Amino acid sequence: MRAAIFNGPHDIGVGERPDPVITHPTDAIVRVTLACVCGSDLWYYRGLSPHDLGAIGHEFIGVVDEIGSDVRDLAVGDLVVTPFTYSDGTCPICLAGWPSNCINGGGFGNHGIDGGQGEAVRVPFADTTLLKVPGSGHSQETLRSVLALSDVACTGHHAAVSGGVGPGMTVGVVGDGAVGLSAVLAAKRLGAARIIALSGNPSRQAVAREFGATDIVTERGDAAIEAVLAMTSGLGVEAALECVGTGQSMATAFAIARSGGMVGAVGAPHDVEVPIDTVIFRNVGLRGGVAPARRYIPELLPDVLAGRINPGRVLDFETDLEGIAEAYTAMDERRSIKSLVRVGGSMTPVVD
Ligand SMILES: [Zn+2]
Repeated sequence: MRAAIFNGPHDIGVGERPDPVITHPTDAIVRVTLACVCGSDLWYYRGLSPHDLGAIGHEFIGVVDEIGSDVRDLAVGDLVVTPFTYSDGTCPICLAGWPSNCINGGGFGNHGIDGGQGEAVRVPFADTTLLKVPGSGHSQETLRSVLALSDVACTGHHAAVSGGVGPGMTVGVVGDGAVGLSAVLAAKRLGAARIIALSGNPSRQAVAREFGATDIVTERGDAAIEAVLAMTSGLGVEAALECVGTGQSMATAFAIARSGGMVGAVGAPHDVEVPIDTVIFRNVGLRGGVAPARRYIPELLPDVLAGRINPGRVLDFETDLEGIAEAYTAMDERRSIKSLVRVGGSMTPVVD
């Protein structure tokens, strides 16, 4: 099969990889139809994080092509969405609601597991990982938003949930990438009254407003902190959502958080320090992590299918699998918020 290949920093190619086969009775083979590139893919793309050479990609939707003998909830032909990690759904960690930390689970597109940026993927623990997308004849816009549930929309939602966002609250969002913008959408969906988005980029500011941002702060660093405090009578925000993973973004999140408030952090940390003095002396909490997308997709999918939310709006660049290198370059150079990759054949499920 054709698949994207990581050859090293700044070197993404397309090549042949073995067709995936059923290895365990709980496996399913998914024929990928839509995939995308993630901000977290840019860390290894830029040589800032280690990654195996070979398969890449962890966000995809597609059609079930084959199932193992123990798969019960899925059928060949089903249109499915996958969270970016697979999980058994039965271990104590999964049962506690943390499938992204499943004892027997893992991620796609690394350590020998097929990547979503390819024609097909073997999905372990198919029944407790994949979710069938009900209905048929979905619009391209809807399918893009279903794809966004694979990671970015759930990660933005996790930032908001971890920050304790609720009705009437004042929220600040640090980061105007796909995750940050998805956090704005999530905060809006959870009933936040005021959402302050930190972004110096006009096209991303527009998406932030579309998603529900009430205020935009264009400054960065200390100037951004001053601006947010000035907008909130010196108090700061009740929930500060950190969606980048750098030391500066974490410092900004803690600085704009109101005393007694919460930081919800989902950025993959690179040189990040937690200001323990702020945690202790201003009672600012910190929660977050790798989003338990398998827990959130059942909650968010109905809103996507009903058109109540449109997280796919962040996918503003499109190519096919052969153009995958450009999909990475466009994001690396911030010409694109998030790149969509059209992979395989028809989108219509064979069996509804
Ligand atoms: Zn588990």
